[in-house]
Amino acid sequence: MLDEGMQFFEAHGALVRPDDQHRYNTDWSRDITGLPKVVVRPRSTSDVAAVVRHCAERGLPVVPQGGHTGLVGGATPSVEGSEVVISLERLNRVREIDAPNFTMTVEAGCVLDEVHAAAAAAACLFPMQLGAQGSCQIGGNIATNAGGINVVRYGMMRDLVLGLEVVLPDGQVWNGLRKLRKNNAGYDLKQLFLGSEGTLGIVTAACLKLFPKPTQVETAFLAVDSPKIAVELFGRARRDLSDLLSAFELLPRRGIELSLAAVPGQRDPLDAPSPFYVLLEVCASGLVDLRNLVERFLESVIEEGLLSDGALAASSAQAGAFWQIREGLIEAQAQQGRHLRTDVSIPISMIATFLDATHAALAVAEPEALPLAYGHLGDGNIHFNVLPPPGLGEAERIALLYRCESVIFRQVDAANGSISAEHGIGRSKRCAFLERASTLDIDLMRRIKSAIDPRGIMNPGRIFD
Ligand SMILES: Cc1cc2nc3c(=O)[nH]c(=O)nc-3n(C[C@H](O)[C@H](O)[C@H](O)COP(=O)(O)OP(=O)(O)OC[C@H]3O[C@@H](n4cnc5c(N)ncnc54)[C@H](O)[C@@H]3O)c2cc1C
Repeated sequence: MLDEGMQFFEAHGALVRPDDQHRYNTDWSRDITGLPKVVVRPRSTSDVAAVVRHCAERGLPVVPQGGHTGLVGGATPSVEGSEVVISLERLNRVREIDAPNFTMTVEAGCVLDEVHAAAAAAACLFPMQLGAQGSCQIGGNIATNAGGINVVRYGMMRDLVLGLEVVLPDGQVWNGLRKLRKNNAGYDLKQLFLGSEGTLGIVTAACLKLFPKPTQVETAFLAVDSPKIAVELFGRARRDLSDLLSAFELLPRRGIELSLAAVPGQRDPLDAPSPFYVLLEVCASGLVDLRNLVERFLESVIEEGLLSDGALAASSAQAGAFWQIREGLIEAQAQQGRHLRTDVSIPISMIATFLDATHAALAVAEPEALPLAYGHLGDGNIHFNVLPPPGLGEAERIALLYRCESVIFRQVDAANGSISAEHGIGRSKRCAFLERASTLDIDLMRRIKSAIDPRGIMNPGRIFD
């Protein structure tokens, strides 16, 4: 017999059996697990509001959950079994596409891939692309202020949202679903919720910016001798390619080898190995002769000696194969079991110095560890990851990865960077964040938190205590 509280949750799509709850308890990496009090799956904004109001009246902590691909423990319930997980997965309608306004209004549980498809059907582009796009949801992208590979051209999620609908921690619905590119009437309240990691409210719908769907895309896989040359190439590419650059990724040789070994059927795109590679994408719509522009650019940088080798994709299949190598790197690391994932932000001009200094510091501190640094050089976001040596027990692995993280974060501090470029703080990075934030930063954030969520029921323990 269910008690009154559980009956209420059951009416809102609750899952109470442990077998049904499994995927809501464990995040994508499987490194982070928890135990919910109950998992609720509302179908409408008013349902979400009713569940939040019910929780607020009883002081029950609430954890909003999207695709559960965030890698910092923000959406995973704590181990105590006291938190109510609200999954947005059934709130997944495209409410409107306004093609003349270049906007679409979608519910928070829409999976990113579905948003891409709906935009493309209207000859438009929603430009956010990331490795988890088959699972992550637009609400999660908003709550984490997600980035991805196209930030260099289109910005982060913060730059792509025009309006939001949010259920506040007392169950009220804030309707900020505007479709305006210019709106200076008072504070820009929606920005408070972007990147707030579910600590201020539950996003239920968003109005997103759209762009013309590119009709030409050129993708090149380029060999460079060092990150310093990659940074120089980036500056040239932005200028010489009329600022049409949409992605600029840095990959080390070791990453290519891991990816080729992990995902069968892939080929090394270039004949001779190079210490580093750049995966570059340029796109345009309209009458620009993009192929010609990219070919002339590549000829000039080869003549100047910036590139040692390179391949410009001859077909979309070949471009896909280049990107598969980049994506295979994620699979390759996942196959290694628990490893260190970082997501740091460095001024682009400091990336080469940062990479050299961090590799040197790790070689001294943890010579057995295998560093793997790659990522979105075009926006300064490096994933400086570490694979532990084989044969370590779980406790030794965790201790070693923790020590490596400290070494890397000290170098981030030296470069005046950030320990989180796009994944957020969640629970995993909370201590490192609090160590670095100023007293005034924390004071201002706490004042915002307590103004909007005075009972502290929304995602407690994420970002700060
Ligand atoms: C293979 C892989 C590649 C990735 N690549 C990138 C990348 O390139 N760039 C990048 O930025 N991230 C990347 N990520 C991280 C992750 O995909 C993003 O953080 C994504 O935005 C999380 O979305 P989600 O729906 O899975 O959110 P979840 O993991 O479910 O939740 C993340 C946080 O948002 C909160 N939240 C979720 N939904 C809502 C809502 N509706 N309202 C309020 N709060 C909510 C949760 O409580 C939690 O704190 C990657 C992850 C993986 C596994």
